[in-house]
Amino acid sequence: STQSSFENLRKDFPILERTVRDNKHLVYLDNASTTQKPNQVIDAITDYYQNHNANIHRAVYALAEEATEAYEKTRDKIANFVNIKDRQEIIFVRGTTEAINLVAYAWGRPHISEGDIIVTTEYEHHSNIVPWQLLTQEKRAKLEYIGMDDNGELILDDLDKHLATGKVKLVTFSLMSNVLGTITDAKKIIEKCKAAGVPTLVDGAQAVPHMKVDLEDLDCDFFAFSGHKMLGPTGIGVLWVRKSVLNTMSPFHGGGDMIREVHKYETTWNDLPYKFEAGTPNIADVVGFGAAIDYLTKIGMDNIREHEIELTKYAMEKLSNIKGLQIYGTKDVSKRGGVISFNFADVHPHDVAQIIDEEGIALRSGHHCAQVLMERLNVAATSRASFYIYNTKEDIDVLVNSLNTVAKVFKL
Ligand code: PMP
Repeated sequence: STQSSFENLRKDFPILERTVRDNKHLVYLDNASTTQKPNQVIDAITDYYQNHNANIHRAVYALAEEATEAYEKTRDKIANFVNIKDRQEIIFVRGTTEAINLVAYAWGRPHISEGDIIVTTEYEHHSNIVPWQLLTQEKRAKLEYIGMDDNGELILDDLDKHLATGKVKLVTFSLMSNVLGTITDAKKIIEKCKAAGVPTLVDGAQAVPHMKVDLEDLDCDFFAFSGHKMLGPTGIGVLWVRKSVLNTMSPFHGGGDMIREVHKYETTWNDLPYKFEAGTPNIADVVGFGAAIDYLTKIGMDNIREHEIELTKYAMEKLSNIKGLQIYGTKDVSKRGGVISFNFADVHPHDVAQIIDEEGIALRSGHHCAQVLMERLNVAATSRASFYIYNTKEDIDVLVNSLNTVAKVFKL
C-alpha cells in the first residue's frame, strides 16, 4: 500500500534513526520550517565536492565543464518539475526570501511610484510583507491587504475593491499558508488580476514541496520557492519570472558573471538568467537540490499530496478529540496542506513545545514569521505541527499522547 511504501523511504533519512533527549526517538513535525535530507541529497553534495568541484561558466578545463553541467542540469530539472518551457526564466537565489526581495528591488524600483498600490494578504510570511513595506515606503506608494475570513480563507471581495481603484501595480500571495495550511484559490485571483492588467507574484514556499504545481497552468508572472523545504539543502531556491516581465527588470546584484562587457563607466549585461546570478553561485547546493527533485519526482507529487491528506485527516480527528484544543483554519482537508496550528486552552505554546520536546517531538511554537496573521487571529502565538513524506500515523499518536501529558501538567 502507499502507507507502507512511505514508511519504507524513512530508511533514506539518517537523522530519523537518531534519538534525542532521554533516548527518545526523534518525531520531526516541523517540516513547514525545513525538511530533513535523504542520503541521495547528502551524497550528491559530497560527490560534488569530492569529485567535481570547480567554479562554473568561466573555464574550459574538464572539472569546470563538469561543475557547469551539473549546475545547469538542475535548472532543467526545475523547469520540468514545475512545468516551465523556457529555462532562461529560472533564476537561482538563496531562497524564497531572496527571490521576493529581488523582485521588490529589480522590478519594484523601476515600476513603482508615488500613489501606486501593492496588494498582499493577511496570511503572508514576513518575507512577503516586509520587502513591500520597504519598497512602498521608499516610493510613497501604498501597501494594502486581502483580508481573511474565520475559516482561514481569503476574502476575494477585498481584492476586487483594491483592483477597482485602478492603482494596483502588483498582487502578491502565498499558494499555501505556512501557519493555517490554507491552499489559496490562486487561479481565481490570477484571473481577476489578469482581467485588470495587474501582474501577480506567487510565494510557492509551502506549496511546491507538497503538491503538484504547474506554472504554465497557474499563469502568474513571478513565482518563488525554497529548496530546503523540499528535501534539498539550505541556501538555494528559485525565482521564476515570465520572460516579457524579466526583460523589463534592472539588475539586482552587480559583479562577476552578470555582465557581458565592463568598461570604466558603463557595463552591458549578460544573457538571461545570468544577468541575475552575480558572483560565484551556490553550486554544490544547486547539485543537491537537483537530487532532491529527482527523489520527489520518483515518489510522485500526487502520491505525496495523498499521503499528507491521510495524515492530516488522522491528526485533525485525534486532535479534535482533545478537550480545550483549538485548531485554526479550515477543517476541509481538500483545502489545506499538512500544516496544523493550534492552541491548547490557555497554555502558552512555548510551554506546550517544551513539554513535548521531552518526548523527542520537534514541534514549532511562536508567531511563525506571520505576525499580521497572529494579530488577525488575536493570539500571540500558536503551536504548529507540519508533516512530510517520512511522517507516520505513529508520529501523530506520539504527539497526541504527549499533549495528554500537557493536559495533566496544567490540570486541564
Ligand atoms: N514564504 C513562506 C510561505 C514560508 O513558509 C517561508 C519559510 N517559512 C518563506 C516564505 C521564507 O522562505 P526562506 O526562509 O526559505 O527564504
